[in-house]
Amino acid sequence: MAKRRLVLTFPPEVVERPVVATLVKEFDVLTNILRAQVHEGEIGRMLVELEAEPENIKAAIRYLQEIRVVVEDAIKDIELNEESCIDCGACTAVCVPRALNISPPEWKLELNKERCILCGFCVDACPLRIISVRF
Ligand code: SF4
Ligand code: SF4
Repeated sequence: MAKRRLVLTFPPEVVERPVVATLVKEFDVLTNILRAQVHEGEIGRMLVELEAEPENIKAAIRYLQEIRVVVEDAIKDIELNEESCIDCGACTAVCVPRALNISPPEWKLELNKERCILCGFCVDACPLRIISVRF
């Protein structure tokens, strides 16, 4: 089994289609919705984690692209300016999935993009404003 964390951008005409149900039923892909901004008649965005055999995930992504859903790897949507970071730890306190961590012996901030759900709480928590999140 493989896992992919993706940001899906839906054109307005696709927002109302049962896309997630299709991924599960037609492609046997477990689809975990981590975040969603979906409104009738508008462009929608969804952060999802897909879990399935690699070939099923590939087929599901092909299907999404065929119906004009833009599929992007989620790790591209959070950026941290590591050179400016002072390792104060303020951002780690608001990061529920523990994507941001500071631990001994280095006490240096580490960002695990695979765990990030793009909630954006760390953006405001950082006194230096050196984290950016796009969702
Ligand atoms: S966006 Fe949310 S989940 Fe991602 S690193 Fe920041 S606080 Fe953690
Ligand atoms: S809050 Fe900002 S400066 Fe402090 S550890 Fe996090 S990213 Fe670095």
